[in-house]
Amino acid sequence: MLKKKISILGSTGSIGRQALEVIEKIQDKFEIVALAAGGNVDLLNEQIKKFKPKYAYATNSNSIEGAKYVTLEEICSNKENDIILVAVSGRVGLKPTITAINNGIDIALANKETLVMAGDIVMPLAKEKGVEIVPVDSEHCAIHQCIKDISQVDRLIITASGGPFLRKTVEDMKNATVEQALAHPRWHMGKKITVDSATLMNKGLEVIEAHHLFGMDYDRIKVVVHPQSVVHSAIEYVDGSVIAQLGLPSMHIPIQYAITYPERFEGIKSRSFSFSEIARLDFEEPDWDKFKALNLAYEAGKIGGTATVCLNAANEEAVFAFLDGRIRLFDIVNTVEDMMSKHNVIKNPTLDEIFEVDNEIRIKTRELFLNRV
Ligand code: NDP
Ligand code: MG
Repeated sequence: MLKKKISILGSTGSIGRQALEVIEKIQDKFEIVALAAGGNVDLLNEQIKKFKPKYAYATNSNSIEGAKYVTLEEICSNKENDIILVAVSGRVGLKPTITAINNGIDIALANKETLVMAGDIVMPLAKEKGVEIVPVDSEHCAIHQCIKDISQVDRLIITASGGPFLRKTVEDMKNATVEQALAHPRWHMGKKITVDSATLMNKGLEVIEAHHLFGMDYDRIKVVVHPQSVVHSAIEYVDGSVIAQLGLPSMHIPIQYAITYPERFEGIKSRSFSFSEIARLDFEEPDWDKFKALNLAYEAGKIGGTATVCLNAANEEAVFAFLDGRIRLFDIVNTVEDMMSKHNVIKNPTLDEIFEVDNEIRIKTRELFLNRV
């Protein structure tokens, strides 16, 4: 079998590092064309030494050793690639993803901002170009595995672990420290997404992501809290039959699925799944008062256009301010609500308009925090 040629954007991040662990286990299936990082050039150079890509990108191009420097855009227009794993964090993922789609290159998509900001542009473009977008996010990867015929699906059921504050009061949450917000009970992820998991904004962004990926109306996407994170999500067919995807809570599995799709390999699997070891699975309704972020995301999604751009940008800036110790955890969601209430939505924005709104909201959000210590 020919090796699949892959590039990884964000190889030094949580998803990127785990993707390389997967690839190491099935080295005979992959050839790495390019690796791209942000500022962690030391780790990137170690990865270059080990995986020998031809090309590499880092924000500081001068420090790259052992591979030819190229831009993210150049990586994504290189037709040597069969697939590109987009695992950078934030808006930086959007333009390269569009470039890859325009070049007919399949995408394994971890970067949820791409769909939250521009799902109405990205998904139709992928369809037009015959490009497969396979989700890495464990919930969407689960749904991708469950769906045979989307036209017969009635509802998507997205599970949420509930994060570190599931059993805490609103008061506890108000006084939460950064350390408490970063202490996720199930998943080890980058800091931004970990804070989003504590407010449940992550789940809100995932609802928007699911709407675009599977073309499902918002009132047919349901969120259920499932603390064990064993059922990764489910779908309900029109006849009431429910199909769920289960597995141990490890991102290795969805990453491997997304980059090897449509094939499957033993690869990174460490042990067999045991129902009796897990023993019980719990499910409950989300607490909508405590996790207002979830409501805001549904609202933004239903409004559409640049409302989700505003939600995403205001949230990201507020999360950074929280991580910096300038605002409290609850201020994140209040900030997003405030910015959304002031935003004049553009209904069918172009890509340029999306980036303009993104910039404008970030600047305005940062201004709100200027006087905070
Ligand atoms: P991390 O913060 O751990 O990693 C982010 C990666 O992006 C790093 O490699 C970083 O490089 C790189 N990066 C950041 N800015 C730039 C830039 N300007 N140019 C090039 N590279 C850049 O994040 P995660 O791995 O946790 O998440 C990545 C994406 O996947 C996010 O969109 C997240 O929402 C999504 N996701 C993550 C999950 C997880 O389990 N972690 C689960 C589902 C989705 P460097 O470190 O070198 O600066
Ligand atoms: Mg997820």
